[in-house]
Formats: sequence, C-alpha cells, structure tokens
Amino acid sequence: MTHCRIPLHLFNTFSRTLEEFRPIAPPKVRLYACGPTVYGRAHIGNFRTFLFVDLLRRVLALFGFEPEQVMNYTDVDDKTIAAAQAASLPLRELTSRYIDLFEQDLQTLHILLPDRRPKATDHIGLMIALIEKLLQNGHAYRGEDGSVYFRIDSFPDYGRLAHLDRQGLQPGARIAQDEYVKESVGDFALWKAWKPEDGEVGWDSPWGKGRPGWHIECSAMSMHYLGEEFDIHCGGSDLVFPHHENEIAQSRCATGKEFVHLWLHCSHMLVDGEKMSKSLGNVYSVADVLAKGYSGRHLRFLLLTAAHYRQTLNFTWEALAAAKAAVGRIDDWLARWRQLPAERFAAATPEGEPLLASFCGSLADDLNLSDALGHFFEFLRATNRALDLGAPLPNLPALWQAVDSVLGLGEPLETPSSLVQELADRRSAARSRRDWKESDSLREAIEKEGWTVRDTPEGQELRRR
Ligand SMILES: [Zn+2]
Repeated sequence: MTHCRIPLHLFNTFSRTLEEFRPIAPPKVRLYACGPTVYGRAHIGNFRTFLFVDLLRRVLALFGFEPEQVMNYTDVDDKTIAAAQAASLPLRELTSRYIDLFEQDLQTLHILLPDRRPKATDHIGLMIALIEKLLQNGHAYRGEDGSVYFRIDSFPDYGRLAHLDRQGLQPGARIAQDEYVKESVGDFALWKAWKPEDGEVGWDSPWGKGRPGWHIECSAMSMHYLGEEFDIHCGGSDLVFPHHENEIAQSRCATGKEFVHLWLHCSHMLVDGEKMSKSLGNVYSVADVLAKGYSGRHLRFLLLTAAHYRQTLNFTWEALAAAKAAVGRIDDWLARWRQLPAERFAAATPEGEPLLASFCGSLADDLNLSDALGHFFEFLRATNRALDLGAPLPNLPALWQAVDSVLGLGEPLETPSSLVQELADRRSAARSRRDWKESDSLREAIEKEGWTVRDTPEGQELRRR
C-alpha cells in the first residue's frame, strides 16, 4: 500500500490555526461526524459536508492512519417529530425511510460508509446517564416544566469554539429549541419534558416522560463509541454554534476531559450564487442531479474539487457539466492504458514518483485537493504524450490506485449492451423459477460478453469485467 510519508496539517476551528495532526494513539484515528437529521431527503449541500468527511477519511488512510468513523443519525428532535406528525407516520417509520434514502445517496456518491451509524433513539439510556452526571455535579438543573437545562454560567469556557462574546450573555435565559442563533444564547435543554405536541414520542426518565435535546445525543454517542477523549469531530460550519459549542460544554463538564482534540468544519454551499431555499426552487437532491443525466461520480467530483472545503462552494449546472468533462478526460486516459500488458509500466513503487510527492504535498496542506488535482492533470497530459510516442511509462496502475484512493471515482459505469441486458433478464427469470442450471449457463454467457453479474438485495448488478 502506497502512503504519503509527510506530516498532515489541518485547520482546527477551535484554535483557528493550521496544526500538525497527531492522533492520540497512532495509527488509529477516532473520528466523529455529525450525521443527518432524518426528516426529509438530504440535498446536495448536505452532501458537500459528507463528501468532505469522506475526503478527510480517505486522506487519513493515504497518510498511513487507520480511521475509525462514527456518524450518528438524529432520528428524534424538533424537526423529525414535526415531520412525522405532518406525514401521519410513527416517528421510526418516517426516519427509517429517510435513512434508507440517505444511504442510497452515499453509495451513489462513492462515500465510504462510516464504521458505525448509531441512531439516537437506540441510545436514550446513555443520554439519561450523561444528564444525571451533569445534574449531580451542578452543571445542570431542573426547570419547573420538568425539562433539564445546562447552566452555561457554570462553564467558563462556554463560547470558545464559536468565539462568542460572553459580555452579551443574559444570565438565566433559557432556550428550549434545538436550534438557535448566537444572539439568543442561554441555558439550553438537555432533556425536554413531554408536551402534547410530541404525540407518541417520549421516554421515561428520572425527571418524567420526555426526550433528549439534540446536542446531548451527539455527546453521548460519540463518547460511547470513541471514548471520552477522541481525535477529530467534524461537520458543517452551521453546526459550530450552538450544536458543537453545546457538545463541548456537556461533555467536558460531565467527564473533566478535553473531549475532542481537533475540530474541522466544512463551509456551506450556494446554488447559482444564492442560498438554497424551497421558495427559489434550488434545493436539489442527488436524485434530481441523476435525472438530468449526470452520475454520482460527476457530482462527487464537483463537490469535492470546485472549492476548498473551508470556502463557500457555488454549485451551477455549468460547473457540473465541466466536472463531467473532467471525469471523462480521466476515463479516456484510463481506457488508454488499462489494457496494456504489465511490462509496459515501470516496476518502481510509486513512492519515488514526483506525482505522488506533489499530490501528497497538496493534501498535507489542509486537504488542498484542487491543488493536488492540478498536479494529477499535468501528469495525465504527460503520460498521454508518452502513450502517443510509445515512450516508457511510470507505474500507472499503482499511482492511479493511490490517487483514486482519495478521489474515489472508481470504475466508469458503462451501460450494458442490449444483448447483455437480455441475458441478464433471462437469468433473473430463471432464478425466480429456481432453475439454477439455466441461471449458471446465462451467467457464463454474460461473462463471455465481458460483464459480471452479482446478486444483491436490490436485484442483479452488472459490471464490466
Ligand atoms: Zn452532532
């Protein structure tokens, strides 16, 4: 396996500086990313953040680390409850529907599945235990309504992540909603007492029936799976306040430990220069993009490379067309050398290749993928010339494997010919008749045409051999 052997530098939101990354127990890296609130279909702006986390994880692996990633599903909060009621569905039914759609979209975008994907509603006991600790050590108190609040005055570091001006804080002010802005900062809800609007949603606790606040969910699940102190916590920049600020307060006050060593945040996305909004009709899902004739690879390439993760990305259809063309150039290049015999390539390991040095150098600078790709496209042009001339070639298979371990483009998806499709349909019919002999001989016929067939829960999957 090829690795980058230089230090990796990442921008820590907490310190506002670029820091050399040193995990607590190398080569392991314990990484938590806030997952989606599953009350509707995620839009491509959400996926910009999840692609950033995927990039981070892939770069960590290329730099020789072993990331262990946890991403939660927020399947109970103000928004999920409201959506379940609007759809007249039990909460769990609504949220599992959107979790399925979300995981399909992850697959379409070649986003590596996090090692663990805990749901908040499966961990209510952990949250109650954490809140009990905070009550015992005086960082939380019970309100008259049966809710439990975190006392922000009890934590002098409150506001350091978001650079809050503590002068403006109103002592004693309380916030019941999960989401609020800096101007209305105050004691926030750890446990929300049941209200008639909550319908069937509620759990028993020492403080009566209710449900956890959104922020405590992530504190409880991240520390449960990764330990009270772990390496990286990341998410979209909209989560810095109040969500991550509150996570820090709850976790550090409960354990007395540092909680997270490195905070990373991905900036937001615009569409045609405007904020995404239902009224503008510019909130696109992955399915909307596919319906316009683009693939997950094109969208992945655009969202990863059109802007550095800490800069605003402006999505336009023209930019997506350009991304499709760029992916096409890579595919053409791959097609040119993929069929060549192994003897055509240098046997040297890619470590000594200038491309790898510059590719790693760019990524080491706070994941500068656009810069890294600039080096790659230069290399692509040079090797295309070498192919034209029949000149010696570097170890292209190994180099591409290293580059694509980060880019994640994988194989171009080709459409099977009508003959292959017909064979596959006949095979599917044979299998439903339980005619395994016929099914096997059709598999062979498909393989003769240069395709493989795999049986998945969704049906047959055809791939170029
Ligand atoms: Zn979270």
